[in-house]
Formats: sequence, structure tokens, C-alpha cells
Amino acid sequence: MGGQEERVTRRLGLIRGANLMIGVAVIIGAGKPGSAAASKADKRDFAYQDKPKDGKSCSGCRLFASREDGKGQCAIVDGVVSPNGWCMAFSAR
Ligand code: SF4
Repeated sequence: MGGQEERVTRRLGLIRGANLMIGVAVIIGAGKPGSAAASKADKRDFAYQDKPKDGKSCSGCRLFASREDGKGQCAIVDGVVSPNGWCMAFSAR
């Protein structure tokens, strides 16, 4: 292998290593207590509403998790959401 090829290969390896470190840092950060809520989006960002839209609602969304109190949590929208709510990120189960 020539000197130039060796430098390019080494540089690519460093870039891949840096990308891997960033990915690991993101995963570790996402797993810290309290960070999930901080990384969720505001309801307004996804035009959340407390009523269904076109027959679609949170209870039929794969991102919804029901709670014992009858309300629910969303994987991407912050705060309590209604099973009858809806937002533009709706994704059918
Ligand atoms: S993504 Fe939107 S529709 Fe789905 S559970 Fe979250 S708030 Fe409800």
C-alpha cells in the first residue's frame, strides 16, 4: 500500500471511529433518567389535539403507551396525552 492510500485509509478509520463514538454517546444519553422527557417534542410541534382526526387517535398509534389512570404517554411527544388525542406523527399500530 502506498503512503497516500495508507493516509486515506487511516483517515477513514478515524472518521468511522468518531461516528461510532457519537452514536454511543447518543445512546447512553438517551438512557439516562429524565433525559427522555427532555428529548421529547412539544405538543405544539406536532399539532397535538385532544380529539381524534379522521378516525385516527393515540390509542391506535404505535407510539402510545396507556397508563393506569386512563391517559397515556407518547414516545415522542412530551407530557400526558389522551387516548383520544391525535398528532401529525400518528403511526398506525
Ligand atoms: S405520536 Fe401523536 S398520535 Fe401517536 S401517540 Fe404520540 S401524540 Fe398520539
